[in-house]
Amino acid sequence: MKVKKDAFSDASAAPDDSRAPFLLIFTDLDGTLLDRETYGWEGALPALEACRARGVPVVLVSSKTRAEIEELRDSMPLSAPFISENGGGIFFLRHTFVHLPPGSVPAPPTVDAMPSSSGGEELWMLPLGISYCLIVKALQEIRQELGLKIRGFSDMGIEEISRLTGLDRAGARLAKMREYDEPFIFPGGEPEDLAPLHDAAGERDLQIASGGRFYHLQGKNDKGTGMDLVTDWYKGYHGRVVTVALGDSPNDFSMLERADFPVLIRSGRTFPGLKQRIHRLRITDVPGPEGWNSAVFNILNMA
Ligand SMILES: [Mg+2]
Repeated sequence: MKVKKDAFSDASAAPDDSRAPFLLIFTDLDGTLLDRETYGWEGALPALEACRARGVPVVLVSSKTRAEIEELRDSMPLSAPFISENGGGIFFLRHTFVHLPPGSVPAPPTVDAMPSSSGGEELWMLPLGISYCLIVKALQEIRQELGLKIRGFSDMGIEEISRLTGLDRAGARLAKMREYDEPFIFPGGEPEDLAPLHDAAGERDLQIASGGRFYHLQGKNDKGTGMDLVTDWYKGYHGRVVTVALGDSPNDFSMLERADFPVLIRSGRTFPGLKQRIHRLRITDVPGPEGWNSAVFNILNMA
């Protein structure tokens, strides 16, 4: 699909109306902007195009890898920064910010030096997570210590990842190119079995997050921390920034808690007490990209 890129991806570009607050959207991918089963996002294209036309950056925030998100972003009308692996790293094109965010560095090539899909533009990053080799080593120790049958992506071949995720082989290969987070399954595990896992992760200064399909062992980074940083970077250019966050799983709640407009995308799961915890929470009527599309149009019409 041929799509136009967002015209105002440069954070320093002046908004059309300087009195209007600058709108900034943070969105989860799987089950939110992407259909949970097919990974399609065409249902959200009208709202994505409206964001592009209005100069509203859409920041993709996912447990997916940099390689996966870069390929996706390239197929969408987007060039805003993105946040990979549950807040493990923030990536952006060099031209996005006139002044480089503190601590940012040129992004090193991905593990097997895939050609970058960022159109030849220099990709920069701010690393926030713990490096993957340390995370994998910790998962192996925890598995041995607790005698649990947990299996991480590092234990799996492309075929198995493809079968578990529904991704094709090329997609599964990108999903395996991890930098900050190890997704794992816990076959037959009961909720009470998770407590020792959380403790063992905590003892190593790590944590376990729950996504739509997998658990994730990762550093103390989360999506919300990445969102705070990117919001601050845009505030430096635009003053008042109004944030929207969309997600469908517990690893999105740190974003929903911070957002001016938090949106829970409907899924098969319910989260008792979430509406009490996040008073402004809106819940979409339909799941996936169609729910995303109507929620974003509603907010664009109000803002
Ligand atoms: Mg999700």
